[in-house]
Amino acid sequence: MKRTMCFALFAALLLAPAAAQEKPNADINAKIRQEENSRSQIMRTLHFLTDVYGPRLTGSPSLKAAGEWAVKTMESWGFTNGHLEPWDFGHPGWVNEHFSAHIVSPVKDQLTAEVIAWTPSTNGTIVAQASQIVLPERPTSAELASALASQRDRVNGRIVLVGKHTFVPVTITPPAKRRADDQVRAQYDPNNPNAGQFGRGGRGQNQGPPPPMTANDINRQVDEFLVANGARLRVNDAAREHGQIIAFSNRTYDPAKALPTVVLRNEDYGRISRILADGTPVELEFDIVNKVYPEGATAYNAIAEIPGSDKKDEVVMLGGHLDSWHSATGATDNAIGCAVMMEAARILKALNVQPRRTIRVALWGGEEQGLLGSKAYVKEHFGTAESPKPEFATFAGYFNVDSGTGRIRGASVFGPDAAAAVLREAFAPFEDLGMMGASATRSRRSGGTDSTSFNEAGLPGIGLSQDPIEYGSYTWHTNLDTYERIVLDDVQKSAIAIAAAVYQLATRETMLPRFSKEEMPAPPLRPPQ
Ligand SMILES: [Zn+2]
Repeated sequence: MKRTMCFALFAALLLAPAAAQEKPNADINAKIRQEENSRSQIMRTLHFLTDVYGPRLTGSPSLKAAGEWAVKTMESWGFTNGHLEPWDFGHPGWVNEHFSAHIVSPVKDQLTAEVIAWTPSTNGTIVAQASQIVLPERPTSAELASALASQRDRVNGRIVLVGKHTFVPVTITPPAKRRADDQVRAQYDPNNPNAGQFGRGGRGQNQGPPPPMTANDINRQVDEFLVANGARLRVNDAAREHGQIIAFSNRTYDPAKALPTVVLRNEDYGRISRILADGTPVELEFDIVNKVYPEGATAYNAIAEIPGSDKKDEVVMLGGHLDSWHSATGATDNAIGCAVMMEAARILKALNVQPRRTIRVALWGGEEQGLLGSKAYVKEHFGTAESPKPEFATFAGYFNVDSGTGRIRGASVFGPDAAAAVLREAFAPFEDLGMMGASATRSRRSGGTDSTSFNEAGLPGIGLSQDPIEYGSYTWHTNLDTYERIVLDDVQKSAIAIAAAVYQLATRETMLPRFSKEEMPAPPLRPPQ
């Protein structure tokens, strides 16, 4: 750089100190990279959240212990105001403590299965004949009732396989593990008129009329039929390849309203179905010990912060959900989101850079049950655009990671285009790590993950899109979601880029631009209850 240009730049800085602060600080960004690449704590954090405290089902003692560990750890890094913030879950905690499943006749072998959450124990080992019932496709309630009634003689005293075996075709062309740079760049290009066609949020496409009954309604009616007719245990088909199992929950959260229920891997379900189809009786043996924790009715978000200086009442938040499903240790969904955000804030604390705004980490509970923890927090602290609390006015953005181990590729912020421009500038120095930009959304529809709890209220939630790696194909909600599935290089890149963006939002002269009262999109209409 020439001396005269240097002088001109220096003069410009003197004349406009406020504007100069809006630019990302190259020196800080270099130090952020160096801190993460030489002293990362991220795999240690993940080890504790998964191996030691996983699974972390909402309401369970392990989720609370994970939150306590996270708070203690962030305090050891120098964060302040660490605490567990209670919210009303309203259901007991539930933990599967012991489970075994075997075929005992006509062959002896173990079976691979997972227990459905909030279902009851078997009260000791049970051995019973297996039978299989078939459900009609897209039934009305009356059609389902008559189909079930015609199979009533297969239920009493039996272990009942519900539904015919699902044929899972081989995957010839596996989905790509990374998104192409060009495609991601186009998605976040502010000058691309088609930018909106990429990414998530295309809900409601390519489907015909809705079925007469939802899957939940069908399950409830089948459960009532099985309980009323004396079934001993319910078995569902996992219907996925290579032993993958996804086990969700009894939606009533009341074990008294369900049978002991498991999801059996597709390969075992197929084997039993085929032997039964030969006309050969099959005997199965199950032993399930589940425990209910009444104190789980109060659940928690784990919070800690780095206090700001002259603008400390303004808050930049970052987080992810700490709760997981119960059939694995919840590494990619979503210990990783928590670990990345804890790490991004740790980097800033370790560099001893003083943010002007307060930086607050929040690890939510109850996401898998419907974004419950983040919704409770937003309601308690901020209210909504229509009914704001005092903290609503001083909220300066919430970053959220919840799409697996893949590196972050772009950001979507609820707010005006100017908000996306600020984020685009903050992320621009990290294109070499895969960050391709930011776009703005006007949608206040909640769903999918916790950033939308902020959007719904009219606050700037910032959702981060990521490379898929194996999230949709292998780990999301499955029994394979463990520490081994974390890609260290990817999560470090995410932590670096997020630390830089959080620093930028916490130090720039003005808050992240937000919709004014007049510009605020209307909240989504709620269907009548
Ligand atoms: Zn998740």
